Amino acid sequence: MAWRTGREISKLSDAGSRPRFQGLTKTILTMRGSTTKAELYSNGDQRITDNILQTSNGELLYAGVTSKELLRTLCNLHLVGYEPVVDASIKVLTSPLMQSALFRVPVLQAVKYTAYSHFCAGENIAEASTTLKNMWKLGLRGIMDYGLEDATDSQSCDKNLTDFVNVVHQSAVLPSGSVSFACVKITAICPIQLLERVSNLLRWQHKNAKFKLPWRQEVMPVLANSSPTYHVKVAPEPLTREEENDLSLAHLRLWKLCEACDQEGVPLLVDAEYSSVQPAIDYMVHAAALDFNKGSQPLVYGTIQAYLKDAFPRLSLAAKDASKRGISYGVKLVRGAYLSREVELASSLHAPSPIHKNIEETHSCYDSCAAFMLEQAACGDGSVVLATHNMDSGRIAALKAEELGLSKEDPRLQFAQLKGMADVLSLALTHAGFRVSKYLAFGPVYQVVPYLVRRAQENRGLLGNTALERQFIRRELRRRLQESAGL
Ligand SMILES: Cc1cc2nc3c(=O)[nH]c(=O)nc-3n(C[C@H](O)[C@H](O)[C@H](O)COP(=O)(O)OP(=O)(O)OC[C@H]3O[C@@H](n4cnc5c(N)ncnc54)[C@H](O)[C@@H]3O)c2cc1C
Repeated sequence: MAWRTGREISKLSDAGSRPRFQGLTKTILTMRGSTTKAELYSNGDQRITDNILQTSNGELLYAGVTSKELLRTLCNLHLVGYEPVVDASIKVLTSPLMQSALFRVPVLQAVKYTAYSHFCAGENIAEASTTLKNMWKLGLRGIMDYGLEDATDSQSCDKNLTDFVNVVHQSAVLPSGSVSFACVKITAICPIQLLERVSNLLRWQHKNAKFKLPWRQEVMPVLANSSPTYHVKVAPEPLTREEENDLSLAHLRLWKLCEACDQEGVPLLVDAEYSSVQPAIDYMVHAAALDFNKGSQPLVYGTIQAYLKDAFPRLSLAAKDASKRGISYGVKLVRGAYLSREVELASSLHAPSPIHKNIEETHSCYDSCAAFMLEQAACGDGSVVLATHNMDSGRIAALKAEELGLSKEDPRLQFAQLKGMADVLSLALTHAGFRVSKYLAFGPVYQVVPYLVRRAQENRGLLGNTALERQFIRRELRRRLQESAGL
């Protein structure tokens, strides 16, 4: 779960967030390289020119969610949005006092019934399965996300692989269709240092076509002409025999995981990380895709981060190349979670930032990538998981899918949000008939504390990500109260 760095998001989000939900504004969106020109008008929280996502009817939206659950969610959202509480919690959770059982036990107990129960699906697969079944009743699918830390050696990679494979097999006994994907982070099954080495070598070869990489397989491109290469200034040393062996082992681990997914009929999403390791991750994903994406539906999906300036060229290169090779191309599309890390790294190397210069450009890149993949999906050439909490992106993609005549049940288009985040968007998309999943992070409370801290940071501030969510819940609770009072 390394990519969910809330601090990075919250640090820069103030810089230029989209003036959403602020009176009547007009957004003209011209999608790059696509046929869509959607004119959307917003008025308060509801766009007025389209009704594809019904968010104003709380009764419909929250049918199936009890008032008790709504009230609990509202309290939790207030708690995680209230900065003094968030700051105090972070101090407590990261305090050295947590080493003492006398302090830790009651703190973790308090966390368990607040932030943990809101953002996490349970301590183990059994508890996560119960959460998933409850979501499934609302029409939401689940992506089982076992919180594992990055690996530094082969031994921890092997152990992590066993855990991932177990989750895949255990997910398969859940109600048919309720688990949409398995997910994995390559940094848990391949040592980070090796991913960095391989990424540098791939970048160097990208700059110097004659540079030979004997271990390199012929796969879809991972870098585009515009991809930055500032990470590597001089020719890196070739991989040692031991490193080559470790790389083969890492490929084999991913291969075994894909095989388990294939056996159980559950596709696999591979998370994206920061740019110093991402080329190696994409390379491994593309190699696995060549073996496992031979059918009409992909088994392995990589991830593209739209905050990167080279996101669109890399996406289109890989998708078109996959199509030429006759394999299906699957991608999860996110905005990206390592913003400040990327900016800091580039600046320390005196290179321009690889991130779009403002949030508007990231939004526009996200929507263009989404439109491109929807067009691919509509002609049977690709599949996309739109992983976002952004209401506008959800709405624009839903409109585009409708315009392209893409069936809402078509598995080539899916939406995903994290548990505890953007439920309004998840439910509205589900009611509109789309396939929607929630990432269900699970694991023992102490193990997911860093994840919870990041979630809290991401949602802090009364005008933060959860403001809209709280507004909708309050409105629905008021409606239910009035109804029961016969008003
Ligand atoms: C199901 C799911 C899976 C995910 N998987 C991954 C993953 O594998 N890898 C990964 O990196 N992330 C992943 N994420 C996190 C994702 O990248 C985002 O951090 C998070 O979802 C917020 O983006 P949003 O699309 O929900 O949009 P919004 O709620 O609109 O948030 C946009 C955020 O983007 C930031 N931002 C982006 N570009 C800029 C810019 N140029 N200037 C200023 N701010 C900017 C801002 O901080 C802002 O808060 C995933 C998210 C979900 C929901």
